[in-house]
Amino acid sequence: MKKSQLIMIWFLPLIVIGGLFNPWLGYLVLAMMAFFLVLSFFKGRYWCWNLCPRGAFLDILISRLSFNRPLRGIFIKQWFRWAVLVLLMGFLIFRIIHTGGNLIMIGSVFVAMCLLTTIISIILGVLTKHRSWCMICPMGFLQEKIGKIKRRVYFCLVVGIILFCPLAQAANLSVDIGGLNQSFPGPDLFYPITDNIDLQGKAYLEFKWRRGNFVYTQNYDFRLYKGYETIASNLIMKKIISVDDYPFKVDSSVFGINQVYTWVLRQITLDGKKSDKSLDSFKIIKK
Ligand code: SF4
Repeated sequence: MKKSQLIMIWFLPLIVIGGLFNPWLGYLVLAMMAFFLVLSFFKGRYWCWNLCPRGAFLDILISRLSFNRPLRGIFIKQWFRWAVLVLLMGFLIFRIIHTGGNLIMIGSVFVAMCLLTTIISIILGVLTKHRSWCMICPMGFLQEKIGKIKRRVYFCLVVGIILFCPLAQAANLSVDIGGLNQSFPGPDLFYPITDNIDLQGKAYLEFKWRRGNFVYTQNYDFRLYKGYETIASNLIMKKIISVDDYPFKVDSSVFGINQVYTWVLRQITLDGKKSDKSLDSFKIIKK
């Protein structure tokens, strides 16, 4: 839980409860939308993970009540996210048009929309994972898309410079345009990260790591190598681990005394992207 979330969470009851009595509070939603849509151009979904009042509410409260089951089926499909975006935005615009320009009624439209989506987020959060709503939230989706547009703008600028800048052409500069397919860091490894491991009397060795971004994680790619080198000939185990299979246990019989092992972990997101590798080596000893 972040300090910023502890502050921002109070905006949610202020809008969804306070807004029922004072519809002007609905304009807070509009102000926040304007703020995070601009912010997302520079920082992607920074708003979602640090500042969104509903995101904070789901992290702080609903995470304690959630059955923590993965969101599946159409909910994770790209077309479904587009459908929710079009449906909710269409509904919002339709309701605003029907206020006839009455400012108090427009405020109440935003309050109602915030209340409705909060109720859906609570139901989804309890029945599946606490942040499941964030998978389909139109506002989160918009931020994601705007963040990507930024990378495209950057890409176009770079391509433009390469094509039209004579100096660049003369110098034959090579430019890293990997921004369109940005990598992201691998999971933080928790155990084993010590040099020596004594497995005497233990039936298995448990592998542990920080499991963040539950909503976007499909599973983990786990690999175990003999020795320090992570080359194909040293590979002794390769598994795709579900997010619920934690900690991941490997039978002690797999390991030999005085032998060094290296484990490598990558996070796989719902859209199939793999994180950078996290890896660590350890030696099996007998005390
Ligand atoms: S996805 Fe929507 S509800 Fe979730 S944190 Fe982002 S803006 Fe808030």
